[in-house]
Amino acid sequence: MELGELVGLRPLPGAGLLLALTQRCPLRCAHCSSASTQAGPQPSAARLRRFVASFGDRDRPDVVLMTGGEPLLRPELVAELALAARRRGARSAVLTGAFFARTATPAAIRAAIDAVDHFSVSIDVFHERQIPRPDVFRLLSSVLDAGTPVSIHAVGATAGDPYLTGLVADVRRRFGDRVPMLVNTVRPVGRAAAWAAARPMPADPGEVSPCAMAAWPVVAADGMVLACCNQDVVDRRPAPEHLRLGHLDDDDWPAVRRRLLTAPVLRMIRSTGPAHLLSRYGTPAAGAPADQGYCAGCRRLGERPEVLAAAGRAAAGAVGELVDRQVAAVQLRAGPVDFVRRYGCARHAHLVGARGADRS
Ligand code: SF4
Ligand code: SF4
Repeated sequence: MELGELVGLRPLPGAGLLLALTQRCPLRCAHCSSASTQAGPQPSAARLRRFVASFGDRDRPDVVLMTGGEPLLRPELVAELALAARRRGARSAVLTGAFFARTATPAAIRAAIDAVDHFSVSIDVFHERQIPRPDVFRLLSSVLDAGTPVSIHAVGATAGDPYLTGLVADVRRRFGDRVPMLVNTVRPVGRAAAWAAARPMPADPGEVSPCAMAAWPVVAADGMVLACCNQDVVDRRPAPEHLRLGHLDDDDWPAVRRRLLTAPVLRMIRSTGPAHLLSRYGTPAAGAPADQGYCAGCRRLGERPEVLAAAGRAAAGAVGELVDRQVAAVQLRAGPVDFVRRYGCARHAHLVGARGADRS
């Protein structure tokens, strides 16, 4: 599975599942969005196994993306979940910081890499202080030679960061077009919250701006299943009730997927975005939060019962389902490059394309 196909599926509700296998990590990147340490929480292997085993042959995600923390701290589990997903017809991918790349890859990690359908490594200035680029390139080469598609997740300070320009040129020199890249800029979450600048909010707070981030369930390290990967939603407890899909202790994939697809407020967030919801249905209320930024406003929708009620009236039925599907279909047709233009680093969006696709 190439990166372009994986990213291209991101707007399709239920097409993917993001599994945080652990919040632990042996590295200590200054920008780490999950603020991972050696002592972070992680769901039990048994709960994760049970959840993936609940996929049906038809009721399943197309792809399971295993993340962390560092998922390859649990290599046997990565391999096991990849094979369990494949038995149901789902593919899998893993995103690693490659903490092991300075020496020969341990056998269990190699088996995990060989078990997945896509292998991604994070490279940025923070990772490179700990894991040298030549070691990561050597690892990527060996995975490519074994026939598994690979990609690089890169992060820069800004879109024009010369570090990114140099990295892209280096990747091209070494791999030609065989290694697509997903490029982002640092966001002020996790360990970067203390020093990274926030992104500007949409110019018009009431504009229709669908949120495709509410399309794939996310299993957090404490076992809670959320409707989006916004780091504040994933990390903070209690989680906003309207963005909570369940918990590994109590819910299986069919139940989580059903809530994801049918909750009216999630349909509306995916079709119009939270800012439009608030501006169209919200009534100025005493004590209502003044900060109605895109995600901040979304996280606080639970404090606006009139908005939730209106979302219920507008999107609970067949029309809400149809609009949700249509908005997803438009985004699917627009493709992965368009998706990264909106959610990642627009300047480098073309690098996400599948092998032989739109590249410059
Ligand atoms: S490798 Fe990833 S999970 Fe680990 S500290 Fe760095 S950014 Fe965080
Ligand atoms: S708008 Fe809401 S659903 Fe979308 S990423 Fe932000 S918090 Fe999550």
